[in-house]
Amino acid sequence: MAYYTRIDREACIACGACVMVAPELYDYDDDCLAYFPKDRNQGITPVCDPLVEAMFDAHDGCPTDSVKIAKQPFHGLPLDDE
Ligand code: SF4
Repeated sequence: MAYYTRIDREACIACGACVMVAPELYDYDDDCLAYFPKDRNQGITPVCDPLVEAMFDAHDGCPTDSVKIAKQPFHGLPLDDE
């Protein structure tokens, strides 16, 4: 089963937890807000199986519920267009 992820950057408080838990999946921008760099936070690139557990750990550890996970692509705006 494929999973998709992106960050709700409106809700992110730049605490850094998701990047510490899953550095292969998430990164910071210049404002220290997290994003999913594989597709510039659109959430349309499937997360490969070895990283699914880390994705859920990041989701569970986010204090603002900003790490989004779905079984369908998000079709979010690219990072530069937010
Ligand atoms: Fe933002 Fe949540 Fe990641 Fe913290 S854990 S940087 S609030 S997305």
